[in-house]
Amino acid sequence: MKISHTQHLGICLIGFILLSTNLSARTWTTVEGSQSEGELLSVQDNQVTLRIDGREYLFPVTRFSEADRAYLLNWQKEERCMVCLKTVQGDQMKAGSEIYHPSCFTCLVCERPFMDRQAIRRDEWGGMVHNEHFRQAHSCGSCGRLISPKTIRPEQIFPDKRVSCLPCLKEAVSDVTQLQAVSRRVRLGLSELGLPTPTGALSMKMVSQDTLNREIERAHGRGSLRGLTLTTFRTITGGPNAGTTFSHEVWVLSGLPVAECVSVLAHEFGHVWLNENYIDASPPAVEGFCNLLSMHALQKDTSKLADVLRKNLQMSDDYVYGRGFREMSKRLEKLGWSGLLNDLSTRRVPLTQRRR
Ligand SMILES: [Zn+2]
Ligand SMILES: [Zn+2]
Ligand SMILES: [Zn+2]
Ligand SMILES: [Zn+2]
Repeated sequence: MKISHTQHLGICLIGFILLSTNLSARTWTTVEGSQSEGELLSVQDNQVTLRIDGREYLFPVTRFSEADRAYLLNWQKEERCMVCLKTVQGDQMKAGSEIYHPSCFTCLVCERPFMDRQAIRRDEWGGMVHNEHFRQAHSCGSCGRLISPKTIRPEQIFPDKRVSCLPCLKEAVSDVTQLQAVSRRVRLGLSELGLPTPTGALSMKMVSQDTLNREIERAHGRGSLRGLTLTTFRTITGGPNAGTTFSHEVWVLSGLPVAECVSVLAHEFGHVWLNENYIDASPPAVEGFCNLLSMHALQKDTSKLADVLRKNLQMSDDYVYGRGFREMSKRLEKLGWSGLLNDLSTRRVPLTQRRR
């Protein structure tokens, strides 16, 4: 997962006076007439980013009323600082096609301004650090937001050393009751695709990264780094109860923001379905399929975090998860969901012939 990237930016200082206007919430009206209050953060590639109740959401420009679209067009014409999003009318720093207030164009770690030809690392959220200070910055394990070591709060560092930014922490799923509520939503999405509710008992558990890693190593279970599915098969031969029953334990990392928790559960429920149907495909096909379910679940979420998570799935350079996802996406395009599920169902391998 790579969110930050390094860039050499040519910078020049222009002008003398600094003027800016304040950001404020505005009422937005959709073409259907529904309204919501939100702060406009950006308009890019026909996508509008609004901050609503502290959370960032992406909407297509076409979703808004004619008056709102005219407002967006005007807003776009003004030169804005990429960090604070206020207009820049005087002193400004230029980096490529982007402009900044000199006071905003600073490193999160050393708080000094960036100078010409210095290498910079930045996140998807407007945070920037000198390349050589990147290791000193914390970065959110979910959204990749860079966090200054000076402002990080103790509760943002989990006992297993994972780091969460404040917006992700605000919606962290940290107990099983919350997890069950998320799981009901995920189930609904999967049933749309034709994935049945599992026949076996399913229990869920919230775990730390250490516990999860230990179990992955011990059981050689197939799991993403944020979740794990353990399926126990019980076969009874002869008698009235002959047949195989299943029980599943799904483990999810505790403290993930809702959007990521949705993605992890959709992935793990994919393993549950594969296990109940004895489907034994190659690791890239299995993990790629489960990631398709994550992608489908994330597509229902208009938050910017969900957008970042979708990009991570699409762009992962992992041989199993990334390549597997891209290959299974192509199969899905060709076969559709029911075709893909049927195709996977042909790869049934009885338990006795399973390589482990
Ligand atoms: Zn600024
Ligand atoms: Zn620095
Ligand atoms: Zn975050
Ligand atoms: Zn998996």
